[in-house]
Amino acid sequence: MAGIMIPPPGMLSPTIDANCAICNAPPIPECPHEVESLALALDQAVTRWTRLAEIRQWAVDNAKNCVIRTFNQRREARYAKVLAFLETLPCYGIYVRYAGHPPITPQLLGEIQYHIRNANEAFKAGVNEDWRRSCMEYPGILDHFLGLVEVRFPVLEEVAVVAGYPGLGGAGVPEQKRVKTRRDSVNTGDLRKERRRSRGRTPPAGGEGHYRRG
Ligand SMILES: [Zn+2]
Repeated sequence: MAGIMIPPPGMLSPTIDANCAICNAPPIPECPHEVESLALALDQAVTRWTRLAEIRQWAVDNAKNCVIRTFNQRREARYAKVLAFLETLPCYGIYVRYAGHPPITPQLLGEIQYHIRNANEAFKAGVNEDWRRSCMEYPGILDHFLGLVEVRFPVLEEVAVVAGYPGLGGAGVPEQKRVKTRRDSVNTGDLRKERRRSRGRTPPAGGEGHYRRG
């Protein structure tokens, strides 16, 4: 690779790269074990991190309430509209007053019953549509609530060094490199690229490649 000085035979190289932490293969060509193990360790760490479960629960609880409230409003509005229509029918008032047995001709009674039946069916279909429409809004509503969650990345210089992990904390880590590393940790593809460069600050991904799932 360009830029890497190859020391003369027999000389020590201060920046000699280590073998694969998992299978002990030479660093070049690069094998996939460290990247895979790190991705797995990250997945497991995220699973252990209870804040994520809390965020998910908070977002889904609020989204559900939001969808149910929206549905209730739509159903209410639809009911009012159907009721307003029925009240325009000439015999509806007397039909209600006499609890469905008004003293009117069988023909008028048949007509009002026909309209009520139709209105009922239309109302049911409309309510189903209201619910379907409300549920279709879940993706945007979840985005909305997740967007309200504040995520703060601490400044590494402020993080106390934890015993046993001398690589923690920001001492001696240049600002530019720190930011880059944080961004690179977004996906494993970038972890692969950064693997060798970040060695020494990123602890090897666990014991001999044995990782429990779940
Ligand atoms: Zn390997």
